Amino acid sequence: MNIKDHIRSIPDFPKPGIMFYDISTLLAHAEAWRDTVRQLKEAVEPHKPALLVGIESRGFLAAAPLALAMGLGFVMIRKRGKLPGDIITHNYDLEYGTDTIEIQADAIKPGTRVVVLDDLLATGGTMAAAISLLRRVGADVAAAQFIIELGFLNGAAKLDVPVQSVVRYE
Ligand code: IMP
Repeated sequence: MNIKDHIRSIPDFPKPGIMFYDISTLLAHAEAWRDTVRQLKEAVEPHKPALLVGIESRGFLAAAPLALAMGLGFVMIRKRGKLPGDIITHNYDLEYGTDTIEIQADAIKPGTRVVVLDDLLATGGTMAAAISLLRRVGADVAAAQFIIELGFLNGAAKLDVPVQSVVRYE
Protein backbone atom coordinates (compact mmCIF):
# COMPACT_ATOMS: atom_id res chain seq x y z
CA MET A 1 0.00 0.00 0.00
CA ASN A 2 1.48 3.35 -1.00
CA ILE A 3 0.28 5.76 1.67
CA LYS A 4 1.35 8.78 -0.41
CA ASP A 5 -1.26 7.89 -3.04
CA HIS A 6 -3.91 8.70 -0.42
CA ILE A 7 -2.52 12.05 0.75
CA ARG A 8 -3.80 15.07 -1.13
CA SER A 9 -1.75 18.23 -1.56
CA ILE A 10 -3.70 21.45 -1.84
CA PRO A 11 -1.89 24.60 -2.99
CA ASP A 12 -2.36 28.01 -1.36
CA PHE A 13 -3.92 26.75 1.90
CA PRO A 14 -4.25 28.26 4.48
CA LYS A 15 -2.29 31.11 2.83
CA PRO A 16 -1.03 31.84 -0.69
CA GLY A 17 2.25 30.06 -1.37
CA ILE A 18 1.69 27.27 1.18
CA MET A 19 1.24 23.68 0.02
CA PHE A 20 -1.07 21.91 2.46
CA TYR A 21 -0.79 18.14 2.86
CA ASP A 22 -4.30 16.88 3.59
CA ILE A 23 -4.86 13.54 5.34
CA SER A 24 -8.68 13.67 4.92
CA THR A 25 -8.46 11.36 1.92
CA LEU A 26 -6.20 8.96 3.85
CA LEU A 27 -8.61 8.82 6.80
CA ALA A 28 -11.52 8.23 4.43
CA HIS A 29 -9.89 5.17 2.87
CA ALA A 30 -10.34 2.25 5.27
CA GLU A 31 -7.50 0.07 3.96
CA ALA A 32 -4.98 2.87 3.57
CA TRP A 33 -5.76 4.17 7.06
CA ARG A 34 -5.51 0.71 8.60
CA ASP A 35 -2.14 0.28 6.90
CA THR A 36 -1.00 3.68 8.18
CA VAL A 37 -1.85 2.71 11.77
CA ARG A 38 -0.06 -0.62 11.23
CA GLN A 39 3.06 1.24 10.05
CA LEU A 40 2.85 3.64 12.99
CA LYS A 41 2.69 0.63 15.32
CA GLU A 42 5.77 -0.97 13.75
CA ALA A 43 7.70 2.28 14.15
CA VAL A 44 6.58 3.07 17.70
CA GLU A 45 6.73 -0.40 19.30
CA PRO A 46 10.56 -0.63 19.46
CA HIS A 47 10.59 2.45 21.72
CA LYS A 48 8.53 0.54 24.30
CA PRO A 49 6.38 3.44 25.48
CA ALA A 50 4.11 3.03 28.51
CA LEU A 51 1.78 5.74 27.19
CA LEU A 52 1.10 7.61 23.95
CA VAL A 53 0.60 11.37 23.69
CA GLY A 54 -1.24 13.14 20.85
CA ILE A 55 -1.09 16.82 19.90
CA GLU A 56 -4.43 18.52 19.12
CA SER A 57 -6.07 17.93 16.83
CA ARG A 58 -4.88 15.68 14.04
CA GLY A 59 -2.29 14.14 16.37
CA PHE A 60 -5.28 12.64 18.20
CA LEU A 61 -6.34 10.88 15.01
CA ALA A 62 -3.01 9.04 14.93
CA ALA A 63 -2.47 8.50 18.65
CA ALA A 64 -5.92 7.24 19.67
CA PRO A 65 -6.19 4.24 17.29
CA LEU A 66 -2.51 3.44 17.82
CA ALA A 67 -3.00 3.38 21.61
CA LEU A 68 -5.87 0.92 21.17
CA ALA A 69 -3.80 -1.24 18.80
CA MET A 70 -0.86 -1.27 21.24
CA GLY A 71 -2.96 -1.73 24.37
CA LEU A 72 -1.73 1.58 25.82
CA GLY A 73 -3.36 4.63 27.32
CA PHE A 74 -3.51 7.93 25.43
CA VAL A 75 -3.01 11.47 26.78
CA MET A 76 -3.99 14.72 25.05
CA ILE A 77 -1.92 17.87 24.63
CA ARG A 78 -4.45 20.57 23.82
CA LYS A 79 -4.59 24.21 22.79
CA ARG A 80 -5.23 26.86 25.42
CA GLY A 81 -8.37 26.69 27.54
CA LYS A 82 -9.73 23.30 26.48
CA LEU A 83 -8.68 21.05 29.38
CA PRO A 84 -10.49 21.05 32.73
CA GLY A 85 -8.86 20.70 36.17
CA ASP A 86 -5.25 21.44 37.12
CA ILE A 87 -3.24 22.09 33.99
CA ILE A 88 0.37 22.84 33.06
CA THR A 89 0.69 25.54 30.40
CA HIS A 90 3.55 26.07 27.96
CA ASN A 91 3.96 29.18 25.82
CA TYR A 92 6.11 29.04 22.72
CA ASP A 93 7.15 31.38 19.92
CA LEU A 94 5.77 31.22 16.42
CA GLU A 95 7.11 33.07 13.38
CA TYR A 96 4.65 35.86 14.25
CA GLY A 97 3.50 35.88 17.87
CA THR A 98 3.17 33.08 20.40
CA ASP A 99 0.98 30.06 21.04
CA THR A 100 0.03 27.99 24.07
CA ILE A 101 -0.39 24.27 24.68
CA GLU A 102 -1.57 22.54 27.83
CA ILE A 103 -1.67 19.18 29.56
CA GLN A 104 -3.50 18.02 32.68
CA ALA A 105 -1.12 18.15 35.64
CA ASP A 106 -1.87 14.58 36.74
CA ALA A 107 -1.99 13.01 33.26
CA ILE A 108 1.53 11.56 33.31
CA LYS A 109 3.44 10.16 36.30
CA PRO A 110 7.06 11.39 36.43
CA GLY A 111 9.41 8.93 34.74
CA THR A 112 6.75 7.52 32.37
CA ARG A 113 8.15 6.62 28.96
CA VAL A 114 6.04 8.21 26.22
CA VAL A 115 6.00 8.56 22.44
CA VAL A 116 4.39 11.76 21.08
CA LEU A 117 2.39 11.78 17.86
CA ASP A 118 1.30 14.43 15.42
CA ASP A 119 0.02 14.21 11.86
CA LEU A 120 2.76 16.28 10.25
CA LEU A 121 6.25 17.64 10.97
CA ALA A 122 6.88 21.01 9.29
CA THR A 123 9.27 23.42 11.09
CA GLY A 124 9.24 21.32 14.28
CA GLY A 125 8.03 24.17 16.49
CA THR A 126 4.85 22.41 17.60
CA MET A 127 6.57 19.14 18.49
CA ALA A 128 9.48 20.92 20.23
CA ALA A 129 6.93 22.75 22.41
CA ALA A 130 5.10 19.48 23.17
CA ILE A 131 8.37 17.81 24.21
CA SER A 132 9.25 20.75 26.50
CA LEU A 133 5.81 20.55 28.10
CA LEU A 134 6.10 16.78 28.59
CA ARG A 135 9.51 17.15 30.23
CA ARG A 136 8.08 19.73 32.61
CA VAL A 137 5.65 17.09 33.89
CA GLY A 138 8.53 14.60 34.19
CA ALA A 139 7.79 12.42 31.16
CA ASP A 140 10.62 10.48 29.52
CA VAL A 141 10.10 11.27 25.82
CA ALA A 142 11.34 8.28 23.81
CA ALA A 143 10.47 9.45 20.29
CA ALA A 144 8.40 11.79 18.11
CA GLN A 145 6.25 10.01 15.53
CA PHE A 146 4.51 11.59 12.54
CA ILE A 147 2.47 10.40 9.61
CA ILE A 148 4.06 13.00 7.29
CA GLU A 149 7.46 14.71 7.46
CA LEU A 150 8.30 17.70 5.28
CA GLY A 151 12.00 16.91 5.04
CA PHE A 152 12.86 20.14 3.21
CA LEU A 153 11.92 22.21 6.29
CA ASN A 154 14.40 20.28 8.43
CA GLY A 155 12.13 20.27 11.50
CA ALA A 156 13.82 17.13 12.85
CA ALA A 157 16.91 19.25 13.61
CA LYS A 158 14.86 21.09 16.26
CA LEU A 159 14.03 17.86 18.11
CA ASP A 160 16.44 16.06 20.46
CA VAL A 161 14.60 12.72 20.34
CA PRO A 162 14.42 10.11 17.52
CA VAL A 163 12.10 11.45 14.78
CA GLN A 164 10.12 9.00 12.66
CA SER A 165 7.53 9.38 9.91
CA VAL A 166 5.50 7.07 7.69
CA VAL A 167 5.95 9.24 4.59
CA ARG A 168 8.40 11.99 3.78
CA TYR A 169 8.35 14.77 1.17
CA GLU A 170 11.67 16.26 0.02
P1 IMP B 1 5.37 22.89 12.71
O1 IMP B 1 5.15 23.34 14.12
O2 IMP B 1 5.86 23.97 11.82
O3 IMP B 1 6.20 21.63 12.62
O4 IMP B 1 3.92 22.56 12.11
C1 IMP B 1 3.31 21.35 12.40
C2 IMP B 1 1.89 21.58 12.85
O5 IMP B 1 1.17 22.33 11.90
C3 IMP B 1 1.21 20.23 13.00
O6 IMP B 1 0.41 20.23 14.18
C4 IMP B 1 0.38 20.10 11.75
O7 IMP B 1 -0.89 19.55 12.01
C5 IMP B 1 0.24 21.52 11.20
N1 IMP B 1 0.60 21.59 9.77
C6 IMP B 1 1.56 22.33 9.19
N2 IMP B 1 1.58 22.15 7.85
C7 IMP B 1 0.61 21.27 7.58
C8 IMP B 1 0.15 20.64 6.36
O8 IMP B 1 0.65 20.83 5.24
N3 IMP B 1 -0.88 19.76 6.51
C9 IMP B 1 -1.42 19.48 7.71
N4 IMP B 1 -1.02 20.04 8.84
C10 IMP B 1 -0.02 20.92 8.80
